[in-house]
Order: sequence, then C-alpha cells, then structure tokens
Amino acid sequence: MSNIGLVIEERERSIGNFLVGRLLPFRGKRMVGPFIYIDHMGPVRMDDHANMDIGPHPHIGLSTLTYLFEGAVMHRDSLGTAMEITPGAVNWMTAGKGILHSERTPDRLRGVDKSMHGLQIWVALPKHLELMDPAFHHVEASALPTWEQDGARFKVIAGDVLGRRSPVPVHSPLYLLEIRSDTGCTVRIGNELYGEAGLYILQGEVRDGGELFGPRLLLVAKDARLCIFTMAPGTAVYLFGGEPFPEERLIYWNFVATSQALIDAARERWRKQEFVMPPGEHDPIPLPLETGFKPSH
Ligand code: MN
Repeated sequence: MSNIGLVIEERERSIGNFLVGRLLPFRGKRMVGPFIYIDHMGPVRMDDHANMDIGPHPHIGLSTLTYLFEGAVMHRDSLGTAMEITPGAVNWMTAGKGILHSERTPDRLRGVDKSMHGLQIWVALPKHLELMDPAFHHVEASALPTWEQDGARFKVIAGDVLGRRSPVPVHSPLYLLEIRSDTGCTVRIGNELYGEAGLYILQGEVRDGGELFGPRLLLVAKDARLCIFTMAPGTAVYLFGGEPFPEERLIYWNFVATSQALIDAARERWRKQEFVMPPGEHDPIPLPLETGFKPSH
C-alpha cells in the first residue's frame, strides 16, 4: 500500500529576474515538519549579461538553508558576513528577530557564461527562539557526513538522521538527507525517521507502493516511519522533515512568525529602514504592494 499522502508538483514562480520551481508552501500542505519554504532554482544557463541579483531584503522567524548543485552565490548580510557558496557547501542563516541579506552572482562570474542550480529552503524557528539574535554559519562540503549503503550514497545536509548529525546548527529536531544512486536501489529507512517527512525527487524515478514518480515532484509521507522506496538508476532525492510545531506559522513576504504583531512590527521596521545595510550594498527590495506570500528568497 502506498505511504504517500500528497504529491506536490513544482510550480513556476519568478524571483526577481529568475525562474524557480516552488515546492513549499503548498495550499494543501504549508509545512512539512519545520520546513516552510522550498524553491528549486534552475538548472539554468546564464550568459555574461545575466546575473542573479537578489538585493537586500529582511527576514524574521526562520533560518535559510542554501545548497547548490551548480554555480555560485555571494551572500552578504547585516552581521557583516560576505561569503561565497559553491556546490556541496551549506549556508545556514538564522534570522531570529531580524537580519537583512543579499544574494548575487559573485563578481568573478559576472562577465562570463555560467550555470545555476540549487535549493533554497526556509526552516521556521520554534516559538521560544523566534526572537533570538541573528547568526550566520557556513559549512564546507567536506564537513557533511557521507556514506555508501545498499547501492546509494547518503549525505546528511542538516539535522540528525540514521545515527549521523550534520554540523549545521539547527534549532529543532529535523533532517535533510541527500540520497543518490547510480545503479538503482531500495531504501528502507523505516523507524529512523520522525515527525513529518517529504521526499523531493530532483532527478530520476522513484517507485513507492507500486506507483512510479518522476523528477520535480515532492511526495509527502502519510507516516514518516514507513519510509521504503525504490530508486531507478541515476536518481537523486532529498528526504527531509522533522517534528512539526504545535502553533501555526504566519508567512508574509520574507517574514515568518507565530503572531501578526511580529509581522506588522517587522514591516514597520523595514518601512523605516531600521535594518542595517550590509557594507557596500544597495537597492533594497521594497515591501510588496500586494498582500500575501511574495518572497524575495
Ligand atoms: Mn532571503
């Protein structure tokens, strides 16, 4: 019997001049565990005139996780961080009570052809930490736990799963696991997962309960503890989830909070330009005119 409660297809959205595939939030399922937003960026070829330029914008109440397959992004934030991320590494930025950052094509790639491919993820903070001081962590690819098992390569990108822990300093029980197989394999994780779980198929095919699923789909499990699936040769998946929070989360623009008062206060601070601009930054993104969810990234 299938353990899949919901199948979410990537939906095309624009982020500035950039097209992405939105996975979360979804109308029928806003969060999976603490994961509240997932965009699949690219893959896209960019010529010497096309650059990623997501100008300074604020966040509250969440951590952002950036993970690239191709390309590079220069991150600058109001803590003074300037950090280029390349494939396999993790940028983990915790907004807490407020941070401002920009994401741009690094200067060294601005005059040349390049590609971009990756995941941009937001993880909501637990209520007792939503006003914590902001922080930024960069974790090199070589620091993530990796191993081979039953015909697949595993990597814990964030959190705690299968007895391995990523050094990314997460704030609630969660997991983000990469599984790749060149030959095809059956993955039996079963009891090792907890909370809510989702399986994102980046490439290849996954079989679950007699059904076949192709790339760019997010499968949400009915029961995380019944996670068994088969991967076709050349498949890459991202298994993620964790303990859901007891309270609902509100999302407005780039803000996540447990109360409307926190969202309103953040809007007001942005309107009054009270966030610190990263050194050398310019062109902050204005508040959207429309209401609802219009993330900058
Ligand atoms: Mn952002």
